[in-house]
Amino acid sequence: MSSLLGHSFIGFARGQSTAAPYRAINPATASALEPDFFPATAAEADKACALAAQATPTLAALSGKQKAAFLRDIATRIEAATPSLVARATQETGLPEARCQGEIGRTMGQLRLFADLVEKGDWIDARIETANADRKPLPKPDHRSLLRPIGPVAVFCASNFPFAYSVAGGDTASAFAAGCPVIVMAHHAHIGTAEIMGGLIVEAVKANQLPEGTFSLLMGEGRVIGQQVAKHPALRAIGFTGSRLGGRALMDTAAARPTPIPVYAEMSSVNPVVLLEGALAARGETIATGLLGSCTLGVGQFCTQPGLIVLTRSAAAESFVNKLSALFTDCDDGVMLTAGIHQAYQKGLTARSGQAGVKLLARGKSSGQPNRAVATLFATDAKTFVTDASLQEEIFGPSSLVIWCADQRDVDAVLGALHGNLTATIHGTDTELAQQSALIAHLEAVAGRVVVNGFPTGVEVSHAIVHGGPYPSLSDGRTTSVGSNAIYRFTRLVCFQNYPDAALPAELQNANPLGLSRLVNGTRSNSTI
Ligand code: NAP
Repeated sequence: MSSLLGHSFIGFARGQSTAAPYRAINPATASALEPDFFPATAAEADKACALAAQATPTLAALSGKQKAAFLRDIATRIEAATPSLVARATQETGLPEARCQGEIGRTMGQLRLFADLVEKGDWIDARIETANADRKPLPKPDHRSLLRPIGPVAVFCASNFPFAYSVAGGDTASAFAAGCPVIVMAHHAHIGTAEIMGGLIVEAVKANQLPEGTFSLLMGEGRVIGQQVAKHPALRAIGFTGSRLGGRALMDTAAARPTPIPVYAEMSSVNPVVLLEGALAARGETIATGLLGSCTLGVGQFCTQPGLIVLTRSAAAESFVNKLSALFTDCDDGVMLTAGIHQAYQKGLTARSGQAGVKLLARGKSSGQPNRAVATLFATDAKTFVTDASLQEEIFGPSSLVIWCADQRDVDAVLGALHGNLTATIHGTDTELAQQSALIAHLEAVAGRVVVNGFPTGVEVSHAIVHGGPYPSLSDGRTTSVGSNAIYRFTRLVCFQNYPDAALPAELQNANPLGLSRLVNGTRSNSTI
C-alpha cells in the first residue's frame, strides 16, 4: 500500500527512524505485506511524551463541546476511510470483511458515545458544599469538587481488536473524552491499519486546532519502546489489552517508577459458564449450539470466550456434553490473528492434553493451512480443577474445559476456587435460579458481568456495561474498559476551597451556566445557587 510510510507519528511530525524495519504478516498465507515499518527511536518516544506534557493544560481546559467536536470529527474521518481501513485490516489480521466493518461501526459508536457524554457534561460529578460561617465550633468552608483529566495516557493496542481496542479504540476515546493527551503503542499484528488510523486522528487534531502533543503513535516493540514510555516522568496512566504477562510487566514498571501511576490492563479471563440440570433437560441442545458459537466466535480470540463449563453429572448433562462434543468435532478450523498467538494456542493445548486428570473430549477439523486453530474440548473433574490452578489459565483460542461435579458441594468448591473473570454465566430454569441465589451471589464476587441464560461473547458499548472484573481479568477490578464509565479511569478528583466564583470552573459556578446536574449540599439539583 503505497500511501503507508511505515513511520511513527510524533505529534504532527513523522518518525525518521532507520532502525531495522519489520513487516506486517498476513496470517492466512504467512506472507509478508508491504511496506517496511520502522520502530520509533528512544528520542522519538521521549519527544512524544514531552509533546504530550506540553499539550496537557490546553486539553484540560477544553469545554465538553470542544472535546465532543473532536471525538465526532475522528468518527467522521473513520467513516470516510472505512474502505481502506477494511482492506488493510483484513490482510493483516485474517479477520473477515464483515467483522472489520462491524468493528469499525463499534469504534465510531464509542467515539460518539463519549462525545455525547462530555457534551452533556454531568459525568464530571460536580459537588458543592456551600459555606456556613455560623457553624459551631468551626465555620464550614465552601468546598466544590469535580473530576479533572489525569494527564498523558499511554495506550497499548490489542492484537484481537484492530479497531475497537486499538489506535482510536475505547482507551483512546475515553482518555480524549476525559481531556488527556494520548500516546498509542501500535500493535505489530495490524501495524498498517494503525498507521492509517493514526493519520486520521492527526488530521482531526489539526482540524480542531488542538495542540500537537494531543496524539502520537509509536511503532516498534512494546517491550522496548512501550516500556520506555511507561517509565517516562510525563506519563500519568496506562491502558492495555493483551496477555497477563504483558499487563503484569506494565503494572510492575508503573509501580516501580519514582512516581507510580495507575495501569488499567485487561489481561486474561476464562469466563466460567455454570449449567444447571433443569435448564439442560429443558433446552440442552439449544444451549450446546449457543455455547459452541460463543466458544468459537472470532476463532475463540475474545476476552469473553467461555473457557470453563461447570456442570453436575445427570442424564441431561451427559447428553449435553455428548452434543457439545459432536458440535466441536464438526467445527472447521479458523485462521488466528498472528503466528505467535497460534503458537501460544498450540502450546496451551499440548500442555493441557498432558495434564493429569484432564481428558480430550473432542477436536474439530483441521485443514492443515497456516496459523489455523482447531476447536478443542477437554474435560476434568472438580477435585482436579480445585487443586490445579493452571487449569484456570487462559488458552487464547477456541478451546474449553468441561468440569464435572459430583454434587452441589463440588460446584461450590469449583466456584470457590475461581480467580477473577470478566464474566460468569449461569443457565437455569426460573425455579433453579430462585433456589441458587447463593451461587449467583458468588458469581458476582468473581466477575464484572453476570449473564443469566445467555452467552458472554458480544460486549455491548453502553452506559451500563461493565467490562472488568477482579484480577487477573483486570489490573484494577473497580473499573471497566468498555462503555462510558471507562472515562473515570483517566480522571482525578480536585476540590476547590473558598474560591471566588469567577475563578471556579464553569461546572462549579453558582449560576450553573452549563445546566449540570450537581450534588449541592447532599441533594441532586440542576439549579443555580
Ligand atoms: P501481548 O503479548 O500481551 O502484547 C500486547 C501489547 O503489549 C503489544 O504491543 C506488546 O508489544 C506489548 N507488551 C507485551 N509485553 C510487554 C512488556 N513486558 N512490556 C511492555 N509492553 C509489552 O499480547 P498479544 O500480542 O496481543 O497476544 C499474545 C497473547 O496475549 C495471546 O496468545 C493471548 O494469550 C493473550 N491475549 C489476551 C487477550 C484478552 O483479551 N484476554 C487479548 C489479546 C491477547 P510487543 O509484542 O511489540 O513487544
